Amino acid sequence: MASNNLGAVLYGKNDLRIEQISTPGEPKPDEVVLRMSQVGICGSDVSYLTKGAIGHFVVKEPMVLGHEAAGIVFKVGSEVKHLKVGDRVAIEPGVPCRKCDYCKGGRYNLCPDVIFCATPPDHGNLCQFYTHAADFCYKLPDHVTLEEGALLEPLSVGVHACRRAGVTLGSTVLICGAGPIGLVCLLTAKAMGATNVCITDIADNRLNLARQLGAEHTLLIDSSEAKEIAQRVSEKMGGMPDITIECSGAESSIQLGIYATKSGGMMVLVGLGPAEVNIPIVNAAVREVDIRGIFRYANCYPLALEMIASGKVDVKPLITHRFKLEETLQAFETSRTGAGGAVKVIISCE
Ligand code: NAD
Ligand code: ZN
Repeated sequence: MASNNLGAVLYGKNDLRIEQISTPGEPKPDEVVLRMSQVGICGSDVSYLTKGAIGHFVVKEPMVLGHEAAGIVFKVGSEVKHLKVGDRVAIEPGVPCRKCDYCKGGRYNLCPDVIFCATPPDHGNLCQFYTHAADFCYKLPDHVTLEEGALLEPLSVGVHACRRAGVTLGSTVLICGAGPIGLVCLLTAKAMGATNVCITDIADNRLNLARQLGAEHTLLIDSSEAKEIAQRVSEKMGGMPDITIECSGAESSIQLGIYATKSGGMMVLVGLGPAEVNIPIVNAAVREVDIRGIFRYANCYPLALEMIASGKVDVKPLITHRFKLEETLQAFETSRTGAGGAVKVIISCE
């Protein structure tokens, strides 16, 4: 077993240390020990660093960050059949209890006892060696890179959002916010057959990337009233969209989502902003605009992997910056500030 295990440990607000952590022991029969390879930085990792908390999840004990990850199997538990030493895998970071009604019903993302990487008090995997449930590790085909494996995590959010939105061949879709999550929703919606996608942001550089990734229309959001912007969306798209996928969490953007969506359509809330917002709920009600939330994903990794392996989706352009594990603080600073047009910042633990 490796004697060194460097990890990125968050002690509290603005106190992230790169230090030796304990090395994993022998895996349980249904586990694998992984040599970590690539770990993407997510907005939630940055929030834990800068605020020490997200909602009621508070960092009270030192916690290893990181949950968008891929690694190489280093040791296999005695009962693991689908993986062997040396296999390259994407790691689905949330392991549910498997026993509750939600787990049994297939909606394991709603399991109250889920253990999720880098959600306090559970450790993440921004380190060199890490142990995980083997059945939440997905073997990558040879032509899929470990970086792409790490990006299966945000891509799975896109898959879950588009599934719950009902995106299908010919759908017209408004996506609000062109951060990594808005962009994976764009890629997924296009792959699922959406033919007319408009994406918004308040930052022009993100809209440029969205155009490169296949958005038919982009809209730079200014301080105009939501109703007025909804009118612009309709003009650009040649009609109101069937579906809105809100990926900014901004109150004004949720308002826009309601006004912009076609009567009888669907708005999915992916963005998580303030806990309480003012929205034109009666407008949604009387036009039968359904509003759905999403929480992470369930049963989405296999499809996300298939989309990448088949070439239907290319997530590589999302990666704008690469760092080594030793440079984690700099990587987080880049992700936090968006310096140099940063979108997805990825850390190599090799
Ligand atoms: P991000 O901050 O990188 O992206 C948000 C984007 O929205 C930015 O590009 C920003 O410029 C843009 N924006 C801000 N105000 C806007 C407005 N009024 N109109 C249009 N665009 C606006 O974050 P991200 O990593 O892409 O994540 C997006 C959101 O999704 C976050 O709120 C995150 O918490 C949430 N999220 C939710 C889930 C879930 O399971 N529901 C999973 C992952 C992320
Ligand atoms: Zn459960």
